[in-house]
Amino acid sequence: MEKIGIVGAGTMGGGIGQVAAAHGHLVTLYDSQPGAAEAMIQGIIQRLERWTISGRVDEGDAKAIIDRLSFAASLEGLAASELVIEAVSEDLPLKQKVFAALEEIVGTETIIASNTSSLSITEIAAGLRSPERVVGMHFFNPAPIMKLVEIVSGDLTNPDVAKRCFDLVRGWDKHPVMCHSHPGFVGNFVNRPFYLEAVRIREEGIADERTIDELMVRAAGFRMGPFELMDLVGVDVNLAVSEAVWNALGRDPRFEPSGVQRTMVKLGKLGRKSGHGFYPYGDLNVSPRPRIVPPGASTTSIRIGPTSGGLHELVERARANDIVVNTGAEIDGIEVDDVRLTLSDGFTAREHTMGSAIPAVLVDWAHDLSTTSSLGIASDVPRALPSAAGFLHQIGIEALHLNDSSGLVVGRIMSSLINLAAEALAKNVASREDIDTAMLLGFNYPEGPLSWGRRLGPGVVHAILRHMGDHLDKGRYGPIEELEAALATST
Ligand code: NAD
Repeated sequence: MEKIGIVGAGTMGGGIGQVAAAHGHLVTLYDSQPGAAEAMIQGIIQRLERWTISGRVDEGDAKAIIDRLSFAASLEGLAASELVIEAVSEDLPLKQKVFAALEEIVGTETIIASNTSSLSITEIAAGLRSPERVVGMHFFNPAPIMKLVEIVSGDLTNPDVAKRCFDLVRGWDKHPVMCHSHPGFVGNFVNRPFYLEAVRIREEGIADERTIDELMVRAAGFRMGPFELMDLVGVDVNLAVSEAVWNALGRDPRFEPSGVQRTMVKLGKLGRKSGHGFYPYGDLNVSPRPRIVPPGASTTSIRIGPTSGGLHELVERARANDIVVNTGAEIDGIEVDDVRLTLSDGFTAREHTMGSAIPAVLVDWAHDLSTTSSLGIASDVPRALPSAAGFLHQIGIEALHLNDSSGLVVGRIMSSLINLAAEALAKNVASREDIDTAMLLGFNYPEGPLSWGRRLGPGVVHAILRHMGDHLDKGRYGPIEELEAALATST
């Protein structure tokens, strides 16, 4: 595929064009907006000049890339392309019109791909004479940098077409994953709870946005928290993807966007680009602080039972900090002075305290309890929190205050993501390995959700989801039937 045509010379079309030209293809860009394709080529030239100065690309290569880029004044200018990648605005009728026009112009062997983030490849191809040559090539933004490309097959896509696109982008130093045209494909389907649950947790008054962001970065290991990421990408852009996935899934209540997101869009609070989103920017830039539990007195010893309440890494950290660890068969969790720490399992702290002589402190999940520098904690007994925070502080962990609830923050978001990853696997949207790779490379997960769930154990993930379903809403939080099977099998 020497000649590649790009329709829509915006952010994505320009980025994909640059990548293709960098790998030796002759790229022709077309945009319906007069002057837009030329302007995009100028933009690429400037980007390459910056990259030349910083040593990222050498001058000769940059010149060769620029020489391989051209623009067409009309769609007919793409007639000789062996592959056309469409990257016009995310609008199904518009894309269908572009595809119908392309079918009249390009050769019968030409592959026609769409960079859509959320529309159905089957629907884009509907009504065409040869829907078998239509495929999704979902690049991520910025295309020259992001490694993930989802190669999406619609119901009628010829597997050979998908395979050729897969091999092509692998040669572009990308990491393609194969998936079926399911709403949101792999990434935008599995990742919905990252935002939706965060917004619900905030609405339910369990934690504010800064505390949630802090926990998702420092405890869960993501590069950015959900609220700062929504502000960066645009609250409107995030809402549009959420609405598209929710509608395409028959308005499944698990995916319903929150009223808060819709109100923010109506009020023009779109994030960084409008100066105000979940956080203020510009002149108003006063970053709120997370809700920290002031550490109480330090302790010289702790007591643990046979299971340490799922917190054995904290026990190891206590030993490493010269805290004496006593054991007792009757103890459940970690006892610190007169409070008991236990890992969040979907029951509330109040339920754990009931019938017990000492108050319970629920500890939220972390990606790695042996290294985390931050943990959310909650208790129904306010005096219990400083004691727990004092111990955590001694072993290098800052405790953040959460209101008592089922699943808390990281546990609630992560178990929901793991549940959807298992659902994507059960629906055969992609392979186990590709689901994890998509989330690692496209969404900056610290670990693939299926691998994470397997490490925790299917019983632990199943229990928290089951208890969240009982406490919050069965229709939204129950474990899927195939969860245990998805997490039990390893490859
Ligand atoms: P954009 O608004 O930056 O660019 C779209 C371009 O398409 C514009 O220049 C517009 O003039 C042009 N256009 C509109 N109608 C056209 C037509 N009929 N013929 C030719 N050109 C036409 O949008 P974008 O962010 O580059 O997104 C493009 C596609 O990529 C969308 O489907 C989007 O969902 C998808 N996508 C976007 C991102 C992202 O983060 N921006 C990431 C992955 C996928």
